[in-house]
Amino acid sequence: MENKILGIHHITAIAGDAKRNFNFYTKVLGLRFIKRTVNFDDPQTYHFYFGDEQGNPGSILTFFPWGSAVRQGRRGAGMATEIGYSVPEGSFDFWIKRFEENNVIYNKPAERFGEKYLTFLDPDGLKLEFIIPKTPDNRKPYETAEVKADAATKGFYNTTLTLNNIQATAKVLTEIFGYKLVAQEGNRYRYATDAIDTANVIDLVELPTEQHGLGANGTVHHIAFRVKDDATQMAFRQKIVDMGLQITPQIDRNYFHSLYFREPGGVLFEIATDNPGFTVDEPLEELGKNLKLPAQYEAHRKEIEAHLARLD
Ligand code: ZN
Repeated sequence: MENKILGIHHITAIAGDAKRNFNFYTKVLGLRFIKRTVNFDDPQTYHFYFGDEQGNPGSILTFFPWGSAVRQGRRGAGMATEIGYSVPEGSFDFWIKRFEENNVIYNKPAERFGEKYLTFLDPDGLKLEFIIPKTPDNRKPYETAEVKADAATKGFYNTTLTLNNIQATAKVLTEIFGYKLVAQEGNRYRYATDAIDTANVIDLVELPTEQHGLGANGTVHHIAFRVKDDATQMAFRQKIVDMGLQITPQIDRNYFHSLYFREPGGVLFEIATDNPGFTVDEPLEELGKNLKLPAQYEAHRKEIEAHLARLD
């Protein structure tokens, strides 16, 4: 497994109001707030990370909350349009009740590839799905006072990319990332890697006439794929260069190292390392409690803090 893509590392999306985003993911969905930091490319904006207790790759959903003035985005082609979480069998009744109580927009449960799923929207219109996988998911969920293990998410199950034509994207998944086509239902093509058994599914939905999405509030910014270490990451960088695609140099994101490239279908992909992880700048029990800044912004902490919305 060492030299392979190990499924999804994290998913990053755009939100509006920071506090509303924070409340939805930590309180309504019961995820752990694993890091409160800023967008390293725009330190006046938060970067929030939500995940399981340790912030394990495959559980990490991150947001740039751009504030309530940000324009509304639109899902469309060339974009990751749905984020799928794995949840336990029998948990939908709990979630539907919780959605009702918190005015969450949802659809009635449906089934695809023999698996039940429940679609809902976050307060910014980001589309999420709770899926009950056919095969047991043994990851340990993070529990809160209100969301216990019998309902809590275990991390990602899949992500859906909407494309005008799936071919070039499928080629990146299969020829570079080691995914295989495992199922098809209508225009939905399911790819999975056997390098790992969780967060290892990508669905490609082909809609030839779908308008391109607008990347703003309520949409996914990028999908990060997971690799074990820097050496593996750089080996993948070479494969992507060899395919004729543009890719960034390695960028230090404090909690992982990143490469970014736009796959030919238009979706921004990242390759992120397991190292060094979220405990690099605060202990496990304190994850998310304090605003953490990368070294280059420490000198400006006061001004940065003054700009950021309070979460309490
Ligand atoms: Zn990322």
